[in-house]
Amino acid sequence: MADWINDGGHGGSDPGAVAKGNTEKVYTLEAELYVHKRLKDHGISNDVTRTSDVTLDENPRVNKVKNYKYCLSHHFNAGGGNGAEFIHSIYSDGKFEKMLADEFKKAGYPLRPRAIFTRKGSNGQDYYYMHRRTGACRTTIIEYDFVDGANSEKIKDKKYREAMYECVVKTVCKQEGKSYKPLNQPKKDTNSVLDGNKQNVYVNGKKVAYLDNAHLIAELVEKEIKNGAKKIVIE
Ligand SMILES: [Zn+2]
Repeated sequence: MADWINDGGHGGSDPGAVAKGNTEKVYTLEAELYVHKRLKDHGISNDVTRTSDVTLDENPRVNKVKNYKYCLSHHFNAGGGNGAEFIHSIYSDGKFEKMLADEFKKAGYPLRPRAIFTRKGSNGQDYYYMHRRTGACRTTIIEYDFVDGANSEKIKDKKYREAMYECVVKTVCKQEGKSYKPLNQPKKDTNSVLDGNKQNVYVNGKKVAYLDNAHLIAELVEKEIKNGAKKIVIE
């Protein structure tokens, strides 16, 4: 069992936040698959909560996540602000979230005025179920930016989004003591790293590609969702 799990927020009948041509569930699936692949490239085994645009309710989601040590729950925000925020449980120290915020800042991404926080419900427990119901798993909710805020145009740029996901990859590498490998490495290294790590992409039950490149997979997924794909599986 891997230590890490990537959770693509929302999905299926729950689109998450939708505004100004941005749909949260599309970006969260992209983020989840991107970080999943990039961590694998670094030899950090990790799983995902969903591999396609399916509905994933609270119970099956937390039942899966609580089997892992660490969870990255990928989200995009709404409400008209801008910048990233990182939410941790009232029971965790927030050190990892501080490392995340530092990487985002270093890469030039805006942070919320209160970028790292916990939230308590009226019953004294964690407010968010991803913290409250995932047992001993250390869950970090990452809100990358706002679908309806000052950066609502900027976040439409895939490169802009992916460089945010890279900040997450970098931070996990740091925690795991792995040396971070940037994307634009010499070709021969990349080939040897990705060799044997190819993924099948199935759309509506039909195999459409066999790829070893996270960019291409994310691009293909986005295209197929736009074209109305009902089910996408990557394995
Ligand atoms: Zn969300």
